[in-house]
Amino acid sequence: MDLSRFIKLYTGSNDPDAIIIYSTLRGSVLRVSQTVAEALRNDTLEGAEQEVMARLGILVPDALAEQLQVAGYFDWANANARRYTVLVTLNLDCNLSCPYCYEDHFRSKNYMSDATADLLVETILDGPIAVGKEVLLGGNFTRDNYLRFPKQLVHS
Ligand code: SF4
Repeated sequence: MDLSRFIKLYTGSNDPDAIIIYSTLRGSVLRVSQTVAEALRNDTLEGAEQEVMARLGILVPDALAEQLQVAGYFDWANANARRYTVLVTLNLDCNLSCPYCYEDHFRSKNYMSDATADLLVETILDGPIAVGKEVLLGGNFTRDNYLRFPKQLVHS
């Protein structure tokens, strides 16, 4: 059995011998001794303890297969979503001076080229719109490029 790749181990705050095991995938939590945790890491657990770990998703038959299965959730969710959200950063040219700005070293006169903008619109038209999804378009539009994007989408 493999240790699931979605496991977090924490040392117990009150008991120095306790290890808290948390499965971020299954939401299962259990408290074990350092010895059991070590056996878990070394794949030497057997019998009832191994069965419990398997039932709680701490041990899995194939960790890579589990990881690929989880990665597939995004494809499944995207394929089944009615809405398709597009967040577009058209330029890095913010002319505000928010005192808390955490983007100041990214701000510059870089603008998305017309060719890239056209490619983006084409991708949205051929992809989500072609299969009947509702497209929510958002981003840092300025007056000029704000007019450009919706017009191309609305007139399709
Ligand atoms: S990038 Fe955002 S936080 Fe920074 S100045 Fe512009 S609006 Fe303010």
